[in-house]
Amino acid sequence: MDLKVPLKELGIVYKLKTKQLDRLEIKTLEDLLLHLPFRYENYSIVAKISSAQPGEILTIKGSVLDITSEWTRQGKKIQIAIISDETKKINCIWFNQQYILKSIKKGDAISVAGKVNFFRQKLAIFVSEYEAVENINDPTYHTGRLVPIYPETYGISSKWIRNRIKQILENYSNSLIEYFPYSIIERNNLIEYKTAIEQIHFPKNMDIVKKSRFRLAFDELFLTQLAALYRKSQWEKNRTSTPFNVSGFQSQIQNFYKSLPFALTNAQKKALLEIFTDLAKKRPMNRLLEGDVGSGKTVIATAVMYLAYLNGFKSVLMAPTDILARQHYETVSGFLSCFGIKVELVTGTKKQKEENKDSNIFIGTHALIGKKIEFKKLGLVVIDEQQRFGVEQRSILRKKGANPHFLTMTATPIPRTVFLTLYGDLDLSYLDEMPKGRKRVKTFLVPGQKREKGYEWIKKMIKEKNQVFIICPFIEESESIKTVKAATQEYLRLKKTVFKDFNIGLLHGRLKQTEREKILQEFAQAKFDILVSTPVVEVGIDIKNATIIVIEAAERFGLANLHQLRGRVGRGEKQSYCLLFTNDKTNSQTSKRLKLLESIHDGAKLAEWDIKLRGPGQIYGVLQHGQIELKIASFSDFALIQKTKKEAQDLFTKLADYPLLQEKVKSTIIEDVSPD
Ligand code: ADP
Ligand code: MG
Repeated sequence: MDLKVPLKELGIVYKLKTKQLDRLEIKTLEDLLLHLPFRYENYSIVAKISSAQPGEILTIKGSVLDITSEWTRQGKKIQIAIISDETKKINCIWFNQQYILKSIKKGDAISVAGKVNFFRQKLAIFVSEYEAVENINDPTYHTGRLVPIYPETYGISSKWIRNRIKQILENYSNSLIEYFPYSIIERNNLIEYKTAIEQIHFPKNMDIVKKSRFRLAFDELFLTQLAALYRKSQWEKNRTSTPFNVSGFQSQIQNFYKSLPFALTNAQKKALLEIFTDLAKKRPMNRLLEGDVGSGKTVIATAVMYLAYLNGFKSVLMAPTDILARQHYETVSGFLSCFGIKVELVTGTKKQKEENKDSNIFIGTHALIGKKIEFKKLGLVVIDEQQRFGVEQRSILRKKGANPHFLTMTATPIPRTVFLTLYGDLDLSYLDEMPKGRKRVKTFLVPGQKREKGYEWIKKMIKEKNQVFIICPFIEESESIKTVKAATQEYLRLKKTVFKDFNIGLLHGRLKQTEREKILQEFAQAKFDILVSTPVVEVGIDIKNATIIVIEAAERFGLANLHQLRGRVGRGEKQSYCLLFTNDKTNSQTSKRLKLLESIHDGAKLAEWDIKLRGPGQIYGVLQHGQIELKIASFSDFALIQKTKKEAQDLFTKLADYPLLQEKVKSTIIEDVSPD
């Protein structure tokens, strides 16, 4: 059985639950097997009824003498089964689980787990889990052992998952073939794959749980890193691009720098040097330029596109929205017009004419990849804000040119450990320095009792021509109806009470893109004083008068997230402010965590703190949905990341000798990396 088989093909049980399974991101057999317990209930003490003592948590096995449903004096419905073993009888109690009378009948053999205590003056067991057994000595899965508890969702209980996994292990455990070379297993003291899967779900003891988890975390990191190496090799394979002449155009490039109204920062210079070194090589560049909002990525892109022009190549700059494309268009033409370079704006709203084919630089949204434009000599693709672009779009663009160089720019603070693990195939340039004279966004933690004072101060600031963002808290990870509702409610509340004398707008992701852009334009034109917004709506454009950002329930956000949000202000000359509203106590751990934002203004550093303080899985929101996340291993496990990285590097050249492993690596790659 192929573990990648979609569950819905395995039967109606799964088909009926497709939606719920989707919510848990379980699509395949393998996903289900890797849906790991986050803890275990210890029901492993199996006792005879006569030895049960009050307060103990036990499993008891016996046959059902009778089962009834009764009302308690408090008006609650309970179910009582009398069971007996060879020693004694005992009452088993359930609360309000009427359906139990359908599944358990007189004469059945059952195993129940729960706490022993007095009920109506007699010892009883308050049932947490139960299961029917054919024979008293049959193995049990929900009782009588360490019982796995899984992340659940409405309609999918741990018990349901347990039953499915038990079934899968019974039917398909032969498919859990060891795919690691023996040497790796030996060197790293790993247990076998099959054992790890079986034991993580139905462990003999906690020690084997630890070993299983280690093995599966190892697999995840190892495979992820092998996949990155594989992508890199595919990127380089059979793909040569014309090396750019860099040294021959030194004086032109220097003149470009001199024409700028500012001096480049050292970080910008270093990044440019790294990029130019790539461009002079025969293999196409695949580099990520990471830098906070305002760190000056556009001018770098411009210099690189200028070099492409000097080399006789065309460039493309893709932005996620029309507004951003237009903004880039203006900036880039501003920088380059005096050098006689033709820059062309390509957006979805504008009809394309034929003549723009002579332009040297095309700037636009995804409309750029439309069929109408043919790029004969496309030598460079710059992508702003990588996460918005689909994989296919990238690969179409790549195929349009003659293996163009790729530069991806992002303001997403990706911590180094994460970068190394997930994006090991990309080269990284990091802007760790802001242009001189930039004012930092002054950040303050505002506890509950100071909220009113905060509002008063904001009112005063609005009267002095400042504009304000108010960000509503994360309710759910994605822009759900719930999140939108919360933002709408807050908007109405503020409009009716605190800010009734001001103009206030609302922005959320359920609005159409055009609608969102319109609201932002209006905000930029100061038609509102305040814009209430959900967190996931990104605002790429500069709104110079927006100098205050208020973040509600700040404790729900990661630090890197908060940092990104505060980047929405501070785009102009004026001093900007970020108010972090929280109801947490002033000295709580949370408040201490949030206070880091008052002093640290480096996105990647804050992202590292997130990993340290909140552990695995807590950087969502920074890595956008759809980007690979670790399910089992942790980004904070630097030692394991290093170890698996080394193993992956050593093995990579010999990968073809291990077909099973090779298959596994290929199947983890979603991106199209096929050589053209
Ligand atoms: P981002 O990295 O967010 O894309 P931008 O490229 O938009 O940042 O740059 C933000 C602003 O900083 C722009 O107005 C740009 O002209 C300016 N800028 C860029 N580099 C420097 C520098 N070295 N010194 C001063 N200002 C700079
Ligand atoms: Mg930018």
